[in-house]
Amino acid sequence: MQAPSKTSHDVIIVGGAMYGSSVAWWLSRNPDFGGSILVVERDPTYEFSSTSHTNSCIRQQFSNEVNIRISQFGAEFIHNFKELMADDDAPDIPLQSYGYMYLADNEGFAANLREQQKVQAALGAGTKFMTKEEIAQDYPFYNLDDIIGGNHNLIDEGYFDGGTIFDWWRRKARAQGAEYVHNEVKAITRNAAETQVESVTLATGEVIACGTLINCSGPSAAITAAMAGIALPVEPRKRYTFIFDAAAPLDRDLPLTIDPSGVHMRTDGQYYLAGCPPDDDPAVAYDDFIFDHSLWEQKVWPALATRVPAFETIKLINAWVGHYAFNTFDQNAIVGPHVEMSNFIFVNGFSGHGLQQSPAFGRAVSEWITYGAYRSIDINAFGYDRIVEQRSFLEKAVI
Ligand SMILES: Cc1cc2nc3c(=O)[nH]c(=O)nc-3n(C[C@H](O)[C@H](O)[C@H](O)COP(=O)(O)OP(=O)(O)OC[C@H]3O[C@@H](n4cnc5c(N)ncnc54)[C@H](O)[C@@H]3O)c2cc1C
Repeated sequence: MQAPSKTSHDVIIVGGAMYGSSVAWWLSRNPDFGGSILVVERDPTYEFSSTSHTNSCIRQQFSNEVNIRISQFGAEFIHNFKELMADDDAPDIPLQSYGYMYLADNEGFAANLREQQKVQAALGAGTKFMTKEEIAQDYPFYNLDDIIGGNHNLIDEGYFDGGTIFDWWRRKARAQGAEYVHNEVKAITRNAAETQVESVTLATGEVIACGTLINCSGPSAAITAAMAGIALPVEPRKRYTFIFDAAAPLDRDLPLTIDPSGVHMRTDGQYYLAGCPPDDDPAVAYDDFIFDHSLWEQKVWPALATRVPAFETIKLINAWVGHYAFNTFDQNAIVGPHVEMSNFIFVNGFSGHGLQQSPAFGRAVSEWITYGAYRSIDINAFGYDRIVEQRSFLEKAVI
């Protein structure tokens, strides 16, 4: 572990993965900010982070307008990535737009999808409600016996390489002056009135004073908040991913299909990817990555073979389990300052859609710190005040 170069920083970011690095990059490139940034990361291999276990997809099919706008900015960011990095060595990041396909097997869910399609289309998203016959025509490989229809969008919806964005954010944030240290925040000290964070104590013993503290600690966010005496309804939940090969590959891309069984599946280069939560979905320990091998045989493969009969003959080639930072209150992100301790900023609770939201929320948080207001997208609806007031801001489209 390393000690930071200074005993005081304007901004300390706890956790240097996707969100810590997004905020560090946005802040450090803004000439109006001008302060110092320390990013404290306890595991520079990022082995157990959500970021390293992601499926890296982006969609516009959300139930809340602001979540749709946030992902639309995510797509814009991906398209402009090379230019934004201002570096000849930066790559283009393709967005493979095979779309999400939400399948409905009952009238209630189909009505929901129709409602959401209207909200999304009003904001310019390409979502279309497709009847069973239309789906069968475009994607003849599905078994649609139990399906009424589905929502599908082929514009700016699919896979992108979030890992490369993360690498470049980290590299560029450093080049722009942010200091990254391999260390762990063990304690947070507040002032006597408990209205401000004053400092953090690191695993190596140093006490570092801070102007603003940003909680980017992913599934460990509640532990970090508790260090400042704050209750945060975010917990680690296991999510499984399986990569498989098909003996008879499909003749076109498999959209990211949200199957009524709770299993999702999509094209993954020459292979296919499937994922699901466990049937019983409790909070787990922060270091519990024990894999349930029965899921593949008992849940995932049967669901795949039922929906796509060609997947009767498949071979599992890789699998992993990662943690969502799951917001148990309303399944939406919690972003912004604490109500009374205004220099404690939450960037937490992204469940399974945090990667795509990281450009917009990183920018928003940097605006808040620099200007005291959100300038691009108003993300006040995600504030911690709703938790205090028990006012939910439910996102229905959580995978
Ligand atoms: C299986 C799976 C599939 C997903 N698929 C998608 C998808 O398709 N699309 C999408 O948009 N999103 C997806 N997500 C969600 C997305 O990956 C996450 O929302 C995002 O990576 C969260 O990033 P983060 O920086 O908040 O958290 P993390 O990546 O978990 O990073 C938190 C960091 O904080 C560090 N840390 C914690 N506590 C401390 C401390 N006290 N001191 C120092 N460091 C600390 C940790 O070591 C870690 O590196 C998926 C997630 C999973 C698990």
